[in-house]
Amino acid sequence: CGIVGYVGDREAAPILIDGLKRLEYRGYDSAGIAVYNSHSTKVVKSEGKIKVLEDKIGGAYPEGRMGIGHTRWATHGRPSDINAHPHGDCSGDFIVVHNGIIENFQELKEWLESQGHKFQSETDTEVVPHLIEHFYDGDLFRAVRMAVNKLEGSFALGVISRKEPGTLVAARKSSPLIVGLGNGENFVASDIPAILQYTRSVYILEDGEMARITKDSVEITDFEGNPVSKEVFQVKWDA
Ligand code: GLU
Repeated sequence: CGIVGYVGDREAAPILIDGLKRLEYRGYDSAGIAVYNSHSTKVVKSEGKIKVLEDKIGGAYPEGRMGIGHTRWATHGRPSDINAHPHGDCSGDFIVVHNGIIENFQELKEWLESQGHKFQSETDTEVVPHLIEHFYDGDLFRAVRMAVNKLEGSFALGVISRKEPGTLVAARKSSPLIVGLGNGENFVASDIPAILQYTRSVYILEDGEMARITKDSVEITDFEGNPVSKEVFQVKWDA
C-alpha cells in the first residue's frame, strides 16, 4: 500500500518511519522496514499500526544509511508478522517491498520451489526477491529488470541488496512510484507526501520504467534496459 525508500548520509530508519506515517491516511494492516548496515540488512516488521512497529523497535532504530519501508494492505496472505513486508530471498541478500498484485505468483512460486527456493510467507510478493536471487550475476539493476519481465499484474517495487550497498532499485507497473531528488541523498515513495519534507524535486515514474538510485545519481530505463530521460517535476503544493 505505501512505500518509502532512502539512500544518503543520514540514518535511514527515522526517515522511513516518518515517511510511512505520512502515508497512513491510505489505510494498511501491517508495517515494516529494512535497513542496510555493514554487510547485512536488518528487517523489522509487524502486523498492526506503525505504533506497534515502533514499540517493537523500542527506540533502538536499526542503524544504516540505506533502507526501504512499507505499509501493507493484504491481498494475498492474511495480515501477520510474517506476511508483512519487506520480504527477502533464501539468503537474505535481496530485500523487497511491493505494492500491488503479482497475478502469476502461483506458477512462479511452483517453479522457484522446483529450483530449490524455500518460501516463508503466503504473499504473492515473496516471488520477487527469489526471482532476483535467481537472476543475480553481479548487477542488481539487471537482475531486477529480468525479474520484472517475468511478473504479470501490478507492482511498485523497492529493492535493496547487501551485495550492492548504496544502490536502491525501484520499478513501476500500474501502481504509483516516484523518485525524490535530494542533495547527496535520494528517495523513493509511492506518493509525494511521504518525502515532501525532504525534497520538492521528483521524477514521476511511468508504467514500465525502473530506476537505479544511489545517493548521488538516478538512472532511469524501461524494462528492456533502454535509457529514459525525464523532466524533474517541482512540487508546488504542501501536504
Ligand atoms: N499483494 C501484496 C501483499 O498482499 C502487496 C499488498 C499491498 O499493496 O500493500 O502483500
